[in-house]
Amino acid sequence: MSELHKFLFEGLPVRGMIVRLTDAWQEVLARRASNTATGAYPAPVAELLGEMTAAATLMQANIKFNGALILQIFGDGPVKVAVAEVKPDLSLRATAKVTGELAADSRLPDMVNVHSKGRCAITLDPKDKLPGQQPYQGVVPLVGDNGGKLQRLSDVLQHYMLHSEQLDTTLVLAADDKVAAGLLIQRLPVKGEANLEGTAQGDHDHVQQDQIGRNEDYNRISILASSLTRDELVSLDVDTILRRLFWEEKVLRFEAQTGMLGPHFACTCGRGRVEGMIRGLGQDEAESILAERGDIEVGCDFCGKQYRFDAVDAAQIFTAPGDQMPGTAVVQ
Ligand SMILES: [Zn+2]
Repeated sequence: MSELHKFLFEGLPVRGMIVRLTDAWQEVLARRASNTATGAYPAPVAELLGEMTAAATLMQANIKFNGALILQIFGDGPVKVAVAEVKPDLSLRATAKVTGELAADSRLPDMVNVHSKGRCAITLDPKDKLPGQQPYQGVVPLVGDNGGKLQRLSDVLQHYMLHSEQLDTTLVLAADDKVAAGLLIQRLPVKGEANLEGTAQGDHDHVQQDQIGRNEDYNRISILASSLTRDELVSLDVDTILRRLFWEEKVLRFEAQTGMLGPHFACTCGRGRVEGMIRGLGQDEAESILAERGDIEVGCDFCGKQYRFDAVDAAQIFTAPGDQMPGTAVVQ
């Protein structure tokens, strides 16, 4: 079963998380593989999407926000777009649009950043939006400070966390066709540091000195975390990973989140949303598709579910409720 583990380092301003997606990740891959229009993901795309899904789960679990966290990459190579979405209840879904051929050993720049035009976007979409409220979105290029193409998704996200959130973050991400996993280590912001040790407000110098010592703690733990190989991350269980990396540290662990309390696959698509999409096409366009094919068929990119609308369904979409004959049943 997929699982999320949170932990703290006793007395230190450092927290961590490990996510291990097994059934939830296999569900994403199986649904894509059974889609006859697309077929299964090429291995490098599956690896990228798995890392994105693990990272999005860690980022969602790391914030207190009532809404979806959506991690997207807009590529300028054979992968046009890749999306992973995680809700506050840790339900997740992911999809990618692939055009053209990919070499089996393709890396991040080969897939999405061929001309250095690739972008990574992190969107927080509030569940209960106020009128006119827009989702918050941060966008970063897939190049480092020196202009070089970043080789891994973890580099892109560490860069984002440091520049956009001012948070020291260490990420290790890995995925294959069975497991998508991630390790996150983060230095807690200054305000939380005093709280952690339960100390009263110290004088300024004292606080400054504490700050230096704490950075050393973070750096030490970060280096230990970075020594985790991608093979180890997908193949070892969480207890073994924590013991191997942090056997000299005092790790305080929270109860693991699994099952419906943990990361799980779910798609939020529905017939109503597809109706909205068809309404967006306009009546003329919808009627021309109907004339050509007999019905309108729309498949969900995330879960593969097919939605079919015949001429009567379509006519109903473009009929305002007030125009209907009294007593006409409205099909939902
Ligand atoms: Zn769906």
